Amino acid sequence: MSETNLKDMSQLVSLAKRRGFIFQSSEIYGGLSSCWDYGPYGIELKNNLKQKWWKAMTFRSDVVGVDASIFMHPTVWKASGHVDGFNDPMVDCKNCKSRFREDKIDTTAPCTNCGAKDSFTEPRDFNLMFSTQMGPVEDSSSKVYLRPETAQGIFTNFLNVQTTMRKKLPFGIAQIGKAFRNEITPGNFIFRTREFEQMEMQYFIKPGTQVDSMEEWKEIRWNWHLSNGLRPENLRWKDHGDDLAHYADAAFDIEYKFAHGWDEMEGIHSRTDFDLKQHQEHSGKNLMYTDAQDNNKKYLPYVMETSVGCDRCLLAIMSDAFRIENEGDKENERVVMKFHPSLAPIKVAVLPLVKKLDEPATKLFKDLQMEFKAEYDLAGSIGKRYRRQDEIGTPFCVTFDFDSLKIMP
Ligand code: ATP
Repeated sequence: MSETNLKDMSQLVSLAKRRGFIFQSSEIYGGLSSCWDYGPYGIELKNNLKQKWWKAMTFRSDVVGVDASIFMHPTVWKASGHVDGFNDPMVDCKNCKSRFREDKIDTTAPCTNCGAKDSFTEPRDFNLMFSTQMGPVEDSSSKVYLRPETAQGIFTNFLNVQTTMRKKLPFGIAQIGKAFRNEITPGNFIFRTREFEQMEMQYFIKPGTQVDSMEEWKEIRWNWHLSNGLRPENLRWKDHGDDLAHYADAAFDIEYKFAHGWDEMEGIHSRTDFDLKQHQEHSGKNLMYTDAQDNNKKYLPYVMETSVGCDRCLLAIMSDAFRIENEGDKENERVVMKFHPSLAPIKVAVLPLVKKLDEPATKLFKDLQMEFKAEYDLAGSIGKRYRRQDEIGTPFCVTFDFDSLKIMP
């Protein structure tokens, strides 16, 4: 039996649609660019991934969770630097009017869309935040933003969480939630979309301990991705070196070898005290931590951040799991999704050999369904039914035959 990996994103897009993982948003209206809907198997997979992250990050005594709102006080985004600085450089092709992120293309080469030479405009800054109006009156004071990252809902709750939970440094706050960015060039399926989910954790530490903390979190996060079954040869580190965001003093990305090439999946950022300092200044609220273990010294904690896109991580997991067995052999070619069992949308399928066994097999299925996401399939040959489950990555299939009757309670 031969086995081939994913070669082209279109193979995955087609499987995802055909088997109810991911559909295009508003498809019956022709779709909405770069927006995707998770179908029945997709949402199971996504929920499993989120739960696994939540468990890994918060089932420890030094990390707690929050769920902050998407809308926040507009000054939050002024303080965080997003209003003035959350820009990507944008260029237009003067010939075909296509838009590109200047830092993602070679502007000295012909336009990748129409082939025109020397056709790009000078780069302009484009702010990636979506804004809308809150309340019935439309004026500048009612302008609010859809959060472009979940992190700020954690920083603004730092004091609430620290005092109510009586937390001592180091401790972390974790959150899973939607974020929105008006990306100039979304694409590559769910890799870059304008609405996506982030799984972020901010770990508050004593200033000066950031190098050790970075090492610790790098190891934890790398191992988490391996625990999801990703193949190590498809993962690598990227050190940002001196090329850092305004808030960071060090940053590393975990990159995955996607079908479109190596690209960022998760960022681990040493954010210093930038955010707390900014919020302290803009809110006028004292956010200092009193260190009882160090002569009641008062200081703003430093922050180590781990930030992974749920959808982007899911794309890596689906890409990694994708295999074609016996490619080119018409009779025997089939897609198998080799998900890690902890992530598989369906854990077990019950397949009665013949219709006559429907009743006892249904009883077994109902028992299993109390504990596991299970499926029951009576339609078609056993071989076909196995293939259906292989395509959605079900780790266990139970063929119910006449011998099974003997071991039924
Ligand atoms: P990029 O350079 O790809 O635009 P970024 O460095 O701006 O990403 P961060 O702000 O560090 O990304 O966001 C943290 C994580 O959130 C990323 O590693 C990625 O997994 C996810 N993410 C960011 N933007 C998007 C998007 N438009 N669609 C899906 N996931 C995203």
